Amino acid sequence: MPDYRGRIAPTPTGYLHLGHARTFGCAFERCRLAGGTLIYRLEDLDQARCRPEYAMAAMEDLRWFGLDWQEGPDVGGPHAPYIQSQRGDWHRAIWRRLKDRGWIYPSHHSRKEVAAARQAANAPNEGDPAEELFPTDLRPTPGTGQNRTEPGEVNWRFRVPDGETIRFEDGRCGTRAYTAGRDFGDFIVWRRDGFAAYDLAVVADDHAMHITEVVRGEDLLLATARQLLLYRALDWEPPAWYHTALVRDHEGRRLAKRHADLSIRALASLNWKASDLWHHLPEGFSLG
Ligand code: GLU
Repeated sequence: MPDYRGRIAPTPTGYLHLGHARTFGCAFERCRLAGGTLIYRLEDLDQARCRPEYAMAAMEDLRWFGLDWQEGPDVGGPHAPYIQSQRGDWHRAIWRRLKDRGWIYPSHHSRKEVAAARQAANAPNEGDPAEELFPTDLRPTPGTGQNRTEPGEVNWRFRVPDGETIRFEDGRCGTRAYTAGRDFGDFIVWRRDGFAAYDLAVVADDHAMHITEVVRGEDLLLATARQLLLYRALDWEPPAWYHTALVRDHEGRRLAKRHADLSIRALASLNWKASDLWHHLPEGFSLG
């Protein structure tokens, strides 16, 4: 077994809340119990929504909570930079590899066109209702875009193997299976705004940073299926997976920015101690 390397990867679009505390606390604990190395990676590719003050606050709040990490933007390390928006060259290299191998294609269609094509095809979504399947008749002919040397101002999508079921073992949720073309469709790997999309960036960086186990919220279980296709396309060994339960409010909704009063810093300002938070975060915990 290679030495355990885990990571916490916050996106600085708001203050961290109890849900983040559970996920990142769990990542920290699993890494600590394995005697491993924890990496902090700032996922700030969505430049329209990310803010430097939230990036600072996230580190402060997690340190207040009692976490520390051995590699990260503030402590450095052998796999720097640990800020995703500074990793564009590496992401572009992976874009190139996927393009050269014929896995991805440029996709000029606007959101509107995609929605119209979905309606015309009357395509019901059998899988996750949050997942909008990209209509396969909007795929260009194979080979389109392969002579491009830069991604340019267009979205690029990964052509999924329709009908293939992607299975994996999750450390908490057991065996999961998602079928390409039904539960998820051709997904964006490069965005027209010039940045890698989430799935490409996360796979490229987890691989580069030698992550052996990914711990994150169970809202990303389906994303794992997409990411496994990227690992395979790149001939890379995937890490192990552990998806944590989400913290929900009394109406069963997962926590989001609207729950500002449940941010870690709001609770700290009410004199909560980090140890109180740890006690309130076991799996069955629900709020209200
Ligand atoms: N940056 C993502 C988030 O804050 C997590 C991505 C991941 O862990 O793969 O939700």
